[in-house]
Amino acid sequence: MSRRLGLLLGAALVLAGVVPVVAHDPDPTFSELYAQNKVLQYRWSGSGTPPLDMRYAIHDARDDANASRKAKSPTFDYDTAAGNVIYYGTSVPCGVNGLACFQRDPPGWFGMWFRENGHRFDWGTLRWCELSGAPDGCYDAENIALDEFGHVLGLNHHDNFADDSDYKDAVVQTYSRTKPRTGYNAHVFGRCDVASLQQEYDVLTSTTLYSTCLDVPTVATLAASSTSVTAGAMVTFTATLTSDGSGRLSNNAMSGRTLVLQQRTSSGWADVLTMSGGSAAGTYTASLTVRSTQDYRALFRKPTNEGVRTDASGAVSITVSAACTSLCPQSAPTPTR
Ligand SMILES: [Zn+2]
Repeated sequence: MSRRLGLLLGAALVLAGVVPVVAHDPDPTFSELYAQNKVLQYRWSGSGTPPLDMRYAIHDARDDANASRKAKSPTFDYDTAAGNVIYYGTSVPCGVNGLACFQRDPPGWFGMWFRENGHRFDWGTLRWCELSGAPDGCYDAENIALDEFGHVLGLNHHDNFADDSDYKDAVVQTYSRTKPRTGYNAHVFGRCDVASLQQEYDVLTSTTLYSTCLDVPTVATLAASSTSVTAGAMVTFTATLTSDGSGRLSNNAMSGRTLVLQQRTSSGWADVLTMSGGSAAGTYTASLTVRSTQDYRALFRKPTNEGVRTDASGAVSITVSAACTSLCPQSAPTPTR
């Protein structure tokens, strides 16, 4: 297992094996990952325990990471017996320009280091907002700790557009911003951070929305309780919706979405009704009284709040025969006594 060292601000380190990607792609990732949903515990360094407000900021970043991951990536927790150590002070392996840095060696340990408030860089004095009364030009330690927690999970720095217009798509950034620049105090993972966590660890549950930084194909299917009935019969349709991405994002049941049952018309497909969520994950049902032979399908339309594609199931034909009006075959009535 190789160790990886990450630096904020002016990082001169080249991470081997990281392929440049275009902006709005998910963040690049490191190859070594932790197990899904693993709890990674940390404690303060005995020789570099952060001041109280810095400890609060780092714990808050832990909570931010846990709450906004939307993936089965590990969570973080504080434990005095933890093997992973967070240090604050003057003795940090963060390079001359690093504000903070991390090292990781999954599935083993990780470490995190924060420079002391007041550190003199050649560009000026480091001020953590939490320790300095939050003047303009300060760095938000909670935001920067969230960047570091993201690195520990396996995220590398987001690749921004040349004009940085997509800066808010990621917290895991090479260059952190200072107060009051947009994004300096982001306290949730950005959509392209989440996208990579979902790709690497899977979405958290079947109802978790796929990050809009992704473009995951889907597969809708449709079946009917009967495909040959008499007019006026009730037919129950059952649809399924699954993801069709690569790796962790393949063949996942997708619950809580909107599927519509459609009927073929002379001019194309028309919505009949919205299907209800079924008892099994990723299933949807609808019941319909049918009066004529028709083709039906289930349609999932790409929502605006999710990075998945539209898909329509294959057509299911329901053949309807006329209901009997005279001389109808009749079942024998149940005898009564
Ligand atoms: Zn970073």
